[in-house]
Order: sequence, then structure tokens, then C-alpha cells
Amino acid sequence: PAGATKGGAVQAIVVDNLVKQFGEKRAVDRVSFGIDEGELLVLVGPSGCGKTTTLRLLAGLEPASAGQIRFGERVVNEIRPRDRNIAMVFQDYAILPHLTVFENIAYGLRSRRTPRAQVRERVPAAARTFRIEHLLARKPRQLSGGERQRVALSRAMVRDASLYLYDEPLSNLDAQLRYQAREDILTLHREKRSPTVYVTHDQSEAMALGDRIAVMNAGQIQQIGTGPELYDHPHNLFVAYFIGTPSINLFDMRLRADGEGVVAEGGGLRLHLHPSMTARARLHLDRPVKVGVRPEHLHVPRMAPFEVTEENTVHGVVNLVEPTSSGSTVYLSLPQEESQDFVATFKVRLPASYIDQEVPLAIDMSKVHLFDAQTGASLL
Ligand code: ATP
Repeated sequence: PAGATKGGAVQAIVVDNLVKQFGEKRAVDRVSFGIDEGELLVLVGPSGCGKTTTLRLLAGLEPASAGQIRFGERVVNEIRPRDRNIAMVFQDYAILPHLTVFENIAYGLRSRRTPRAQVRERVPAAARTFRIEHLLARKPRQLSGGERQRVALSRAMVRDASLYLYDEPLSNLDAQLRYQAREDILTLHREKRSPTVYVTHDQSEAMALGDRIAVMNAGQIQQIGTGPELYDHPHNLFVAYFIGTPSINLFDMRLRADGEGVVAEGGGLRLHLHPSMTARARLHLDRPVKVGVRPEHLHVPRMAPFEVTEENTVHGVVNLVEPTSSGSTVYLSLPQEESQDFVATFKVRLPASYIDQEVPLAIDMSKVHLFDAQTGASLL
């Protein structure tokens, strides 16, 4: 359970069965997690899943309807925001337009009555970290979006907060700046070693930044784990589909016993499950399942790193070939069932002449996922 000790020590931040009700709407529904000292936890999920509300509850900007928030052993539910010692970076950066860059960065220090000498030392040091020391005298309207974002980061940097909170701080930046800003955020995080919660709807950003990632949907945490854990071992369909681009392919099938083994049948496909999955799969024979195949686990047969047979091969009609930096993404449909689309990614460039052709692709059956079609729960 969240709040349990890890390695004998109390976790830096604990959220325990947190609930936020807005009238009929339950925006946050029994959310629990713990964050270690120096850990960066990403909350990721689709629009409206409750990420921002969770962050606002942590900051004390909204009162919780139920549940507990603890900083170390101290319950902070009743503590005012300014007394929680939190540094926040918002999507709109919350920069004050009438103040210079220097005064914006200094704002949190001054409001905490930091001695002047310290302010004069720390503000330029923070600005230097984010390469805006030459802009300290400017007003915010004289800054680009990327520069504003670095002002917001500098303002977080000058503080020694107990908890750092980020709410989609990169969504107003173009792709190039976004990569640079990710680095900047990790720089700040490594320097501070304070617990950090980072909210985004972008799963690739979550994978790039998070020590651990909490995937949220409809107010609830679906799964918490490292990026690779979520990608390789999703607990349910939602996590499997949300994590990874292009998304996992899902085929509606049924499991049948086949001698010692188990086959999945449906949509004109017959796939022999990997022996490592047979024991679990046998508990779900004849029930509708979704077989999940990541795009990179479909191989051009002659390049497959395993033995290719009819029972690990899927045929697809190529609809579109998209070149990528490292190969190609190919969109296909099952020949028997045109409505069943799927996608494969290759490390080789496939020529566009494949369009409208039917091609065989070999599935790495040791990597497939099985989900209960009704509940969405992983069967493995
Ligand atoms: P986004 O990525 O779009 O910002 P989110 O995951 O951050 O989404 P929240 O802003 O936390 O989602 O909102 C969660 C749900 O709670 C949404 O359905 C939203 O409409 C609702 N909600 C948020 N704030 C309020 C409020 N003050 N009053 C009523 N409903 C609210």
C-alpha cells in the first residue's frame, strides 16, 4: 500500500486514497502513491483524467474531499499552500508581466523574506543554469516562449522546496526547444534531489523524464512503474494502448487448446501461443480475448530473429508506408477482415511499391500480450 515504508525509511511524499469531488464529478478517485527523496514521478493520462487536480491537491490549491497527503510523517491536508514549501512550474509559466526577469525569478525568495545578498547571488546563478542571464533586465513581453519557460524554471531553481510540481510546462514549446527543456528540467531535478511530480498527457515525455510513471484514467491510477515496466508488462488494455507509439495492435480472438499448447483464433488468424504463456492461457480457454502485438514485434519474415511458421505469421494488405528516421512505419489491414487495421515498425526502409500488396509478417510470439476482452485485465 502507498505510505508503506520502503527500505525502512518514510517516503518523502505520500498520497493515500486521495479523493476530489466537484459536485457529482469525481475528478480524483482514491489515488495513492509514494515518492522517494530525489525521485521524479510523472502523472500521465488523457485530457480530463485528473492529473492537474491531483497536482493542485498536492500544492494545497484545492482541499481534498477525502484521503491524506503526507510530507514525510507530517499530514499536510490542512496546511496552507504557502506553508507547504512547494515550487511549481505551470504550462503558462505564471510570469508576472510588470516585473523584470530578475524580479520574476526573485519573487519566491522575496516573499519568503530571503536576505538581499542571497537574492543577488542566487538569481543570476539560476539564470545562468538556464542560459538567460543576459535577459535579467527585460520584461516578459520582450521574451520568446522558450525564454519565458526558462524564467519559470529559474524561479523554481532559486528555491529549496520540499516538493517540485510541473504541470505540462513544455506544451507551448516547439519540438526542438522541448528536447532542450527536458534536459533543463532533469538538470534542475538532479541538482535539487527533491521529490518531483510532473504532469503531462504525452507518453513519450513521460517515458523520457519519469523515474516512475503513474498512468491515470478517469480519476484513477491504472498502473505505476518504470517506463519499461509499463511498456513490457501493462496490467490492462488502457495502459498497453496508452504507452507506446504507434500504439499496440489489438486482435479480437479466442483461445483454444491445441494438444499441449494453446492457439488464438479469430479474424482469419490462427496463432500458436508461446510455451511460456500456455499455463496462464489455459485458464481462459474459449473466452474472448484481445491479443496485443507491439508494432516492433512484427518482422519481415527473412529478418525475423526466430523460426517463422504459419502459426506465428499474419498476412496484411499494405495501406500506407511512412518513412521514419530509422526505418519505416507500415499500416496494414487483415486481408480477411478489412476493418481490422494494424501497424508494424521496421528498422529498414520499405519502398512505397508495397502499397496494396499482401505481405506476410512474423510475430514474435514470446512478446505478445493477452487481455480479457471484457475487463481489459492482462491475463499474463
Ligand atoms: P487536462 O490534461 O485536459 O488538463 P487533467 O487530466 O489535468 O486534464 P483535470 O484538470 O484534473 O484533468 O480535470 C479532471 C476532471 O475534473 C475533468 O473532468 C474536469 O472537467 C473536472 N474539473 C476540474 N476542475 C474542476 C472544477 N473546479 N469544477 C468542476 N469540475 C472540475
